[in-house]
Amino acid sequence: MIKYYLVRFSGEIVLKSERTRASFERRLVRNIVDMTRRKNVKNIKITRGQARLFIEGPEELEDILKRVFGIYSFSPIKHVIFEKLDDLAEKVEREFKDLVIGRTFAVRVKRAGKHQFTSMDAARIIGARLYKYSKGVDLKNPEVEVFVEIRDQNAYLYNRIIPGPGGLPIGVNGKAISLFSGGFDSPVASWFAWKRGVALDFVYFNLGGVDAVYRAMRVLKVLVENWCSGYSPKVHIVDFRPLVAQIMKKVKSPLKQVILRRFMYRAAQSIAEEVKASALVTGESLGQVSSQTLWNLTVEEEILKMPVLRPLIGFDKQEIMDLARKIGTYEESSKVREYCAIVRGRAATRARLEEVKKEEEKISPDLIIKVVNEREIYEVYKIKPVDFLPRENVVINFIPDEAILVDVRSRKEYNAWHPENAVYIEDIALDSIPKEKVIILYCESGEISFELAKDLREKGFRVYSFEGGIPQLKKRFCS
Ligand code: ATP
Ligand code: MG
Repeated sequence: MIKYYLVRFSGEIVLKSERTRASFERRLVRNIVDMTRRKNVKNIKITRGQARLFIEGPEELEDILKRVFGIYSFSPIKHVIFEKLDDLAEKVEREFKDLVIGRTFAVRVKRAGKHQFTSMDAARIIGARLYKYSKGVDLKNPEVEVFVEIRDQNAYLYNRIIPGPGGLPIGVNGKAISLFSGGFDSPVASWFAWKRGVALDFVYFNLGGVDAVYRAMRVLKVLVENWCSGYSPKVHIVDFRPLVAQIMKKVKSPLKQVILRRFMYRAAQSIAEEVKASALVTGESLGQVSSQTLWNLTVEEEILKMPVLRPLIGFDKQEIMDLARKIGTYEESSKVREYCAIVRGRAATRARLEEVKKEEEKISPDLIIKVVNEREIYEVYKIKPVDFLPRENVVINFIPDEAILVDVRSRKEYNAWHPENAVYIEDIALDSIPKEKVIILYCESGEISFELAKDLREKGFRVYSFEGGIPQLKKRFCS
């Protein structure tokens, strides 16, 4: 069904100078159009009003308007043209009489233009019309609010005000590189940077772990598909494993983390310079983990020429988790694991710059240049996270959400117990499974499934054997 929406800008946009406001508004319109195209919502018509937009389109628009930064709120409206106040009151009555039946209500009128009546008059006359259907007027805590915005001979009627995300349209505040790990924090930090109008590209450092890139990309997809508007963000995947290995081997234990983070900053900065971004964004907050002390942050960013935006600096972990739920990244982030021994290890809380610099000399500066140069770059909209499962491994110890789980034991064992969604090998026609689909085989111990997986790999299937067989599976599915 085609509906008509009134869209209100964030207060900050309205307060800007004429020229800035016009450019922010254009950007906002562009971002809305971009998201509707991407979500395949068709037949949109946008008209500009004063400090507001009128958008005609199908109901699916609602979900989009909740997600475009720069929108303060919006309402599905009915537009009417009227002659006299009585005429308007009759039209409001017709529109809302069913809604107020058996409920308390209030009429809220806003008025602009020359009229024979005041806003109060209008509220009184309209209220009197609706009164007979209702349970009475309640101006403080009504069950239904009837809004009437009058502009000359036009009136906009609505009863719902739906909040948008607020903030500024993405793109009006330049561009930054977000250091994206996929944990709870960095997606929320990215969301806040977008909210202030900063366009982001992402950098992910692969520190190790078979499902690391896959998991992080799942989170990134959710974030970008839900909240990005106006451009197509890129993700730079940097293989940091050689660097991690060097740090593990050569650097003093308490300084490993600080040094790893200095290398992350260096790499991110050099990518930022290349793509003409002017800042970095991280999910760091103050004192959340022992490595995130003021002293360490100072030592870490000493190598930077550009600012680091840390939108979460004053948030508690609990607040960040709540935000992650609201943003929609919580569930995918909760599956991201820390593999890197450096990240897990104990860290100095007061690293000294001189000492850090000396330790760092043990690592060849060419290595960082090499890993940055060899990075992979993708458009986030185009990636499929399963494509980031390792091709070289036959054995994996987790089950990707997109995979088909196949039991290769005896039928009797399968019938006695199998994980939910697992299919029995003889019940599926392997040849009918598309070659891009991921298959996970399991058996009692993991040995038979391994041999079988190797054979099927040779036939071109994307197949893995589940490590540890039934005991591991039971742990996963029966806990
Ligand atoms: P998160 O919840 O975002 O993973 P964290 O609580 O694990 O953060 P740290 O490991 O100290 O905290 O990381 C702090 C910030 O450094 C992250 O929020 C992110 O911006 C960046 N970062 C950490 N690891 C990576 C990585 N592998 N790739 C890209 N950025 C990273
Ligand atoms: Mg993390």
